[in-house]
Amino acid sequence: MVKERARILVVGGGYVGMYTALRLQRRLKRELDRGEAEITVVTPDPYMTYQPFLPEAAAGAISPRHVVVPLRRVLDRCRVLIGEATAVDHAKRTATITTLATEEEGTGGQQLPYDHLVLAPGSVSRTLPVPGLADHGIGFKTVEEAIGLRNHVIEQMDIASSTRDPAIRDAALTFVFVGGGYAGVEALGELEDMARYAARYYHNVRPEDMKWILVEASDRILPEVGEEMGRYTVTELRRRNIDVRLRTRLESCADRVAVLSDGARFPTRTVVWTAGVKPHPVLAATDLPRNDRGRLRCTPELSVEGTTHAWAAGDAAAVPDVTAAEPGRECAPNAQHALRQAKVLADNIVHTLRDEPLETYEHAYAGSVASLGLHKGVAHVYGRKLKGYPAWFMHRAYHLSRVPTFNRKARVLAEWTLAGLFKREIVSLGSLEHPRAEFELAAGGKPSQDPPGNPKGSS
Ligand SMILES: Cc1cc2nc3c(=O)[nH]c(=O)nc-3n(C[C@H](O)[C@H](O)[C@H](O)COP(=O)(O)OP(=O)(O)OC[C@H]3O[C@@H](n4cnc5c(N)ncnc54)[C@H](O)[C@@H]3O)c2cc1C
Repeated sequence: MVKERARILVVGGGYVGMYTALRLQRRLKRELDRGEAEITVVTPDPYMTYQPFLPEAAAGAISPRHVVVPLRRVLDRCRVLIGEATAVDHAKRTATITTLATEEEGTGGQQLPYDHLVLAPGSVSRTLPVPGLADHGIGFKTVEEAIGLRNHVIEQMDIASSTRDPAIRDAALTFVFVGGGYAGVEALGELEDMARYAARYYHNVRPEDMKWILVEASDRILPEVGEEMGRYTVTELRRRNIDVRLRTRLESCADRVAVLSDGARFPTRTVVWTAGVKPHPVLAATDLPRNDRGRLRCTPELSVEGTTHAWAAGDAAAVPDVTAAEPGRECAPNAQHALRQAKVLADNIVHTLRDEPLETYEHAYAGSVASLGLHKGVAHVYGRKLKGYPAWFMHRAYHLSRVPTFNRKARVLAEWTLAGLFKREIVSLGSLEHPRAEFELAAGGKPSQDPPGNPKGSS
C-alpha cells in the first residue's frame, strides 16, 4: 500500500526506461490495479533497442526486428506514449510532451503532470565541427542507422562492380570509421567480415580491393577490454588488412574526401562516426542540475541531486561510482550500469512510496566482450582475458543471456543456428528506405530525395 497516489512519468524507452518501468509494473501490481499508481512511458519509438546487437544486425547475422523489444507488449500495465519530452519543469512537476498527434493538430506540446519523474533519454553522438561531417557522416546508434549502413556498404560494392571510372570505384570501396570504442570497432569488424564474404559473389570485387580504415585520436582502441586486449585487437585488425591509425583525427570529410591529421587523404563515400556520446540535449531544457559534461548530477541512490521525486540513470546521469578507489569517479555510460541502475532506481521509487529506506547503487565494472566478426572476438571479464573464437562465443552467450525477453532470446538463437546451417544473407534492401520511389516514377512524379549518408548516384 502506497502513502499517496503516484503518477510516475518515465522519459525514455531504452535500457533504463524499459527496465525501470518493467520492474515498477511488477512491484506495484496491486497499486496499479487499485488505481493508486499509474506509470506513463514517453519515448519516440515504440521499441527498446538492444544496442550491443547493432553490429550483428548490420552484418546481417540478426534481423532488425529481433534487436528491438516491443514496449507495448512488455509494458502491458503502463501507458506507452509515443512522443518526446521537450522540457521539464520539475518545480511545477510537469513535462512538455510532443507527439505525432500534437504535431498534426498544431497545438504545440501538451503538459503532462507527474509526481515522480524518471529521466532516461540516454545520449546522442558526440560530434565535432569537422567540415562535411554533418552532410556526409553516418551515425551508429540506432537500428535504422545499422541497417542503413549495411545497405549502403553493399550498395557501394554494387557501384564499384558496375562503374568504369576508377576514381568512383576507389571511393566506393573505401570505408572510414572514426572512433575506436566498442561501437566503432564492432561495427567495422562485423561489416568488413560481411563485405569480405559478400565479395565472393562479385566477379570483379576482391577483398583486397577494399580499404577499411579505423581512425582513433588516442593511442589505443577498445579501452573497455583493457590495454593488452586493446593491443591484441589492433594486431588482429591489421592482420585482416584493416588500416588502424592511432593518434589520428578526422580533420575534414568535405567534398567526399576524408582528410586525416597525419596528412592522409581518402576519397570515400562512407564516413561512419562513432567517436563517443554526449548526454541527450533535452536535459538542458529542464530545471535539474547538470555537471560540466551535461549529465544530470545524481546521488548514489539515483535521485537527482537537491531534488525530491526526480530520478535518473544510464547515459544521461552522472552517478557516483562508490566502488572506485579515487573519489569523484562517475559510472561509465554503458549498458552494464544502465541495466543494474534501472533495478535500484525502480526499487527506490517503491521504497519512497512505502516510506522505506533507500538502496545505494553499487556495481564494480565486470569487464567487456566485443565481437570482431564471425568467430572472432576479444574479451576481458572478471580478470579473464580471451581472444578469437572463445571470446566471440562468450560475446554471443553473454548477450543472449542479456537480451530482454525469452521471446527475443529464442528468435536470436534460432537465427544464429540457421545462419550456421545456411549461407549468410548478402542482399541490400536499400530501396526500403525509398518505398515510394517506384510508384512516384510510375505516376510521372520525381522520386523524392535520398536520405543523408546514403546518396545514390552521387560521388
Ligand atoms: C552500437 C553500440 C553498441 C554498444 N555495445 C555495448 C556493449 O557491448 N556493452 C555495453 O555495456 N554497452 C554498450 N553500448 C552502450 C549502451 O547501449 C548504452 O550505454 C545504454 O543503451 C544506455 O542506456 P540508456 O537507457 O541510458 O539510453 P538508451 O538505451 O539509449 O535509451 C534512451 C531512450 O530515450 C529515448 N529518448 C531520447 N530523447 C527522448 C525524449 N526527448 N523524450 C523521450 N524519450 C527520449 C530514446 O529514443 C531511447 O529510447 C553500446 C552502444 C552502441 C550505440
